Amino acid sequence: MTEESKVPVLICGGGPVGLALAIELGLRGVECVLVEQGDGTVPVPKMSQLSTRTMEFCRRWGIADRAKEVGWPEEHPGDFIYVTSMIGDELFRQRFAPYAKQGDLRYTPEGPRQCPQIFFDPILRRHAASLPSVTLYHRTQLESFDEDSNGVHVRLASLETGQTETISADYLAGCDGFDGPVRKALKVEYEGSGILSYSVSIFFRSRALGTLHNKGWGRFYRLVDASGHWSDLIAIDGQELWRLTCFHVDPETDINSFDVEGSLIRAAGTTFPHEVLSVLPWKRRELVARSYGRDRVFIAGDAAHQMSPTGGLGMNTGIGDAVDLGWKLAAVLQGWGGPHLLESYEIERKPVAFSSVTASSETYLHETSLPANLVIAENSAEGERARRQFAEALRGRRGQGNERLHEGVKLGYSYEGSPIIWPDQAKAPLIKGGDFIPSSRSGARAPHSWVSEGCSTLDLFGEGFVLLRFDQSTDASTLIASAAARHVPLKVVDINNPDIAALYDRKLVLVRPDGHVAWREDACPDDAFALIDRVRGGGSL
Ligand SMILES: Cc1cc2nc3c(=O)[nH]c(=O)nc-3n(C[C@H](O)[C@H](O)[C@H](O)COP(=O)(O)OP(=O)(O)OC[C@H]3O[C@@H](n4cnc5c(N)ncnc54)[C@H](O)[C@@H]3O)c2cc1C
Repeated sequence: MTEESKVPVLICGGGPVGLALAIELGLRGVECVLVEQGDGTVPVPKMSQLSTRTMEFCRRWGIADRAKEVGWPEEHPGDFIYVTSMIGDELFRQRFAPYAKQGDLRYTPEGPRQCPQIFFDPILRRHAASLPSVTLYHRTQLESFDEDSNGVHVRLASLETGQTETISADYLAGCDGFDGPVRKALKVEYEGSGILSYSVSIFFRSRALGTLHNKGWGRFYRLVDASGHWSDLIAIDGQELWRLTCFHVDPETDINSFDVEGSLIRAAGTTFPHEVLSVLPWKRRELVARSYGRDRVFIAGDAAHQMSPTGGLGMNTGIGDAVDLGWKLAAVLQGWGGPHLLESYEIERKPVAFSSVTASSETYLHETSLPANLVIAENSAEGERARRQFAEALRGRRGQGNERLHEGVKLGYSYEGSPIIWPDQAKAPLIKGGDFIPSSRSGARAPHSWVSEGCSTLDLFGEGFVLLRFDQSTDASTLIASAAARHVPLKVVDINNPDIAALYDRKLVLVRPDGHVAWREDACPDDAFALIDRVRGGGSL
């Protein structure tokens, strides 16, 4: 790092969201520097499952296969199993087929994958570091910054040497987690319910725990005893790594006196050989930042929103922020993004955060309000009845709360209504609960279909805009000419496949670099400049 060096984008925070943003920029050839105060080690496997959408982004980035190789054995089922303890009674089981037996999913080239953060962050880090325009600095802390018309002047301190330096950046992205310095310096407050509860996660190693019971492998063991659903035991690698998350911890608890051993024995129902790797007390929050930043400084990921991990939406929502912000920063720096493009970042992403936060809290309340019964773990006729009633209650409640967390929330979010999306002329369909219905409506994620062996429609998107044409006789020349005049990168792809044409439902579909539909029609609009200006954030918002 040289003193007073200049860089187009400075990213504060090398968690998954900062690294994803560095990859988005790096793949677009945009120079960026990422500073991370830590040394790159991930002490606790927080996020466990990559959503379908995150896996689709990984596919575009070229790391989906690496994410599949680590994390979870292909042949293990991914069941959620309700138990009184690991050696106790099984109360209820929600079955999820092993990846090896899942087959092709109709709506995506990449289904969700178990790839906990201890594995995923290093994959992202290695990939970001391999991109020529990305520079990563560890043990480097952002201390403060100020902004003027020339850029953002960011003061950094090396935690190794104590040396301080200033970097000037065109843009600063705060991917610095909850309570990060960038949001605070912007004086942006959070809105929402705040803290829902206190939890403690115990990360430990035990080969014995996988086989000392008769439940077989599952991803989640939900522990229910006389006090109700008191914790979740998550199998991290399907071999020897585990995370036990204890709910409802008293906020006054001193973590040094937290009963780690007692909690592990309570979960297993017996003593067992193990090695505790780390203990993390954390707060379950429901918050969204009032602003995602403006002008030259933006925030993303946990800096912009926190939610209960129930449902696995936190990091996955942050990765979506990075993708949205990434192509827009690149477009502006490359000169074709209009003056309003970056304003659309908050407009598009904040509603997604609200939807994720709400769905996560609903699931948390749904799971932890399962009926408690004092005798549920007892070996008696009353105990047997309590277990039956519990299973019946669960069967009855399935689909009420946590269904929203399925693909409808994770994949079905749309940017319809965004000022850089051309309004769709068709009436919006009514979508029930958390259903995901692939759609080419303006704002939606452009649907997946196989174009040829191993090539999805999604593989066509990523660099610039793509105009899909399903009838080669349709004249697209005015749109092509307008894009060229505004220097908007646009590739026309002809598809002669009636099934894909039916799925996309229009002869012309314009898809953005992030894979969302910007516009669709059967013919070019009368004013193609107006369309191109709108989708590049060039018109008045
Ligand atoms: C128990 C638990 C389970 C979870 N499970 C899931 C799940 O299943 N699915 C899911 O999607 N999400 C899950 N999450 C949430 C997920 O872990 C977070 O959403 C994710 O880590 C956020 O990534 P981020 O990059 O925004 O922030 P962080 O991971 O917090 O990274 C921010 C980085 O910024 C750095 N930083 C801060 N200040 C500075 C500074 N001044 N200078 C330099 N660097 C700085 C920090 O050191 C940190 O590395 C879970 C969370 C918990 C606690």
